[in-house]
Formats: sequence, C-alpha cells, structure tokens
Amino acid sequence: MDEKLQPVRDAVLKRNPGEKEFIQAVDEVLESLGPVVSRRPELLDASVIERICEPERQIIFRVPWVDDAGKVQINRGFRVEFNSALGPYKGGLRFHPSVYLGIIKFLGFEQIFKNSLTGMPIGGGKGGSDFSPAGRSDEEVMRFCQSFMTELYRHIGEYTDVPAGDIGVGGREIGYLFGQYKRITNRYESGVLTGKGLSWGGSLVRTEATGYGTVMFVQDMLASRNDTLDGKTVSVSGSGNVAIYATELAQRFGANVVTASDSSGYVHDPKGIDLELLKQIKDVERGRINDYVERRGGSAKFIPSGKGSVWEVSADVALPCATQNELHGKDAKALLSNGVVAVAEGANMPTTAEATRLFQNADVLFAPGKAANAGGVATSALEMQQNASRDSWGFDYTYDRLREIMRGIHDNCAASAEDYGLPGNYVAGANISGFMKVADAMLAQGVI
Ligand code: GLU
Repeated sequence: MDEKLQPVRDAVLKRNPGEKEFIQAVDEVLESLGPVVSRRPELLDASVIERICEPERQIIFRVPWVDDAGKVQINRGFRVEFNSALGPYKGGLRFHPSVYLGIIKFLGFEQIFKNSLTGMPIGGGKGGSDFSPAGRSDEEVMRFCQSFMTELYRHIGEYTDVPAGDIGVGGREIGYLFGQYKRITNRYESGVLTGKGLSWGGSLVRTEATGYGTVMFVQDMLASRNDTLDGKTVSVSGSGNVAIYATELAQRFGANVVTASDSSGYVHDPKGIDLELLKQIKDVERGRINDYVERRGGSAKFIPSGKGSVWEVSADVALPCATQNELHGKDAKALLSNGVVAVAEGANMPTTAEATRLFQNADVLFAPGKAANAGGVATSALEMQQNASRDSWGFDYTYDRLREIMRGIHDNCAASAEDYGLPGNYVAGANISGFMKVADAMLAQGVI
C-alpha cells in the first residue's frame, strides 16, 4: 500500500476493531488508490479517503418477534448508511446468521463504489440481520419482516435510503417489508424498496440482473482477448438468485455450466446443470442441493462440504456466486492448474486477497464483484426510474439497458486501469473509477 495511505488504513483498523471483512474491503480499495493520490494530492488534504471509510450513519436495533411455538425471539437489525454523495443510500438487506456489523460495513463500503460504477444516481448503504430464514415458516418470516420494518421505516424513503434484497432476502421478504412500510406510513411509496413483485412496482429483469450482468461482464472481458463463452466449461458456486441466473445466461451463450453448491456441499454435473430442476429445488421448494443429484441421476455427483471444493472441478471460467471469502489461495491454485482463463465475482468479495493476487499474477482475466455483480443494483436503479415516472418497461428494453450499463462498466474499468498504467487490471480499474466519481462529488459538496 502507498505510504501516504498507510496512516488512513491504520486509523480504520483502530476505529473498527474485530471487523475483519470490513478491513479486508477497505484494504482492497486503498491498495489501488496510491497512483490516484499521487496525481490528485488535494484528495488527501481534504481527508476524502478518511471520510469515505467512515459511514455517514450506522443504525443498530432490536428485532423482537414471536415464532410459531409462541416463543419470543430476538435478533439484531442493522442499516449502515455509508455514503450519499451520488444519491440516496442504496443497497440490499442480508438475513443470515453470520451477519454482524463488520459484514454489513464491508458490504456497504463495496456498495459505494459499485453503485458509482453503474453511472446511476445512487449512494451506498447496506443492512440486514442475523436472522436466518432457513427452516422458518412463511408466517415466521412475515412476523420477522414486519418487526424489522417497524424500526427501519423511520430511516428509509425514496429520497433517503432505498433497501433491496441480498442473501436471505428475496421477493417474499421484500413483499412483507413493503406491506409493513405502507401500513405504517400510509404511503404507497413504490421507490422505497427495489426487487418488488411485477404487479406492484417491480421491474422486469431485476430478478435475473445480478447473474446476467456477471456473465455479460465475462463476455466483455473475453472479447478483449478475442474469445467468447461458446463451448467453455464454467463452474459456478452457490444456488441462489445470482448463481441461477448466471448459469442461465452462460448456458444461453453456449457454455456448459457443470457445478452448483450450497452450504451442504456441491454438485458436479458433467453433462451440464439442468436449470429447471435446480430452480424447482432451490427456488420453489427451498430444498438442499443433494436433492438435485437424487432427482437428476446419471453422472451427476454430490460432494458434501468438507470433502472437497467446487473449485477442484476443471473449468475455463469460474464464477463464485455464493458468499464472501469462499475462494481461497488453494482453490485459485487448483483452478489455475486446470487452466482457468477468467474469473468473475458474482457474489460480494468471494475471492480472498491471496487468491485474487494468484489469478492476477497468472494473467487470468479477473473481475471484482463491485464491477461484475453491479447489474443487480443497476437494475434496481432502473426500477426506481420506472417508479418515479409511474411507468413499466418491457423485458427487452430493460435487458438492453442492463447490457449497455454492464458494457459501460467494463469499458470504464479497462480505461481507468490503462490510464493509471495497469492495463488489464480490472480490480484497480474498478476501484479507481468507482472512487473518483464519489470523491469528486464529495469535494464539490464541501465538508459534510
Ligand atoms: N444486494 C445487491 C448487491 O449486492 C443488490 C442491491 C440493490 O439492488 O440495491 O448489489
């Protein structure tokens, strides 16, 4: 890291003890900003980087609810409103037992730069809870969401802060959250949440957007080396919304996607994932990934977690779409020894710093999440546009807008990397171009 940035990093570490994912996300950005502060020393004079590392507001609250057995349960709720230089805070809600302040801050910090890269007028934020929807009835999830919103509603609004989904928060949860917001405020404020159902203010393509966008980014990276996805073997981790739609578009572009996973293990299906079956099991039935192998039969295999990693499967392209820090140095080595040519992060920060370095040193095309998975939040911003104009767009038009946005992100990352003497380094390109736009807006808006 540049020596001028080291004191900033030390201060962040001291101020946020124990928040290792947040520190990891800050390190990753600061490591790219050395050339920027050399060129633009006024950014240091105005403490822009210190300011960007400190959330504008952090809200932590109790979420009491009653389970089906009549027992009162207590969870912790969070909303970190990180940066509003470019627009209202925007970012998802994550419901997962691993959630604590450090996870929400890492996600909120990443969201600032991701949202900036989309070119849309949205700031960065994130929220969630340590509540686990797994194994809970619809009624329990509803009661939890209603209690969560009973505190959150006072902090959000279409011009203030616009939450959406993330891990554990999909269409069902957004529905319950929206219903409670409407009930408390007596306002049909469509633009307060994104990821809504299509008949009540949602946008076509939003469901598919994160996974689709990741594959579009891979298409653009491969094109820069006169290559395509057609005929490539692709390994995907995860089996949630991002993984499912990354698989769908990769298959449409002629790739053979051979894996899927969840916390219980992974599936290797050399003939290619049967996406309808995977959607049925994971989306509709909310089942486990080994059900897939039982129902698919043939050469599909299930490897339980602890007995191997999805990254041992030979693939030309790897798409980590599950969760943070799921692809380690040893996994990168396995992928490299099997000849991987491109890796794109569909999830947020799935690749550890060590694994990222290994890919970059081997000249593998590597797309960081803040660029490669920005299609989800970009389409959320398109949903906000439709809500603001009380309009709803067709699928093809919305898809084309997403395609254009993803190409723009790819080209901007490539151009910034080139401009700062790091051609082909999409990590540096994404951090620099995402950062510059926010930094310039912060300078223009004064010390706030
Ligand atoms: N949670 C998603 C992300 O990581 C989407 C956020 C949004 O649509 O606001 O970008």
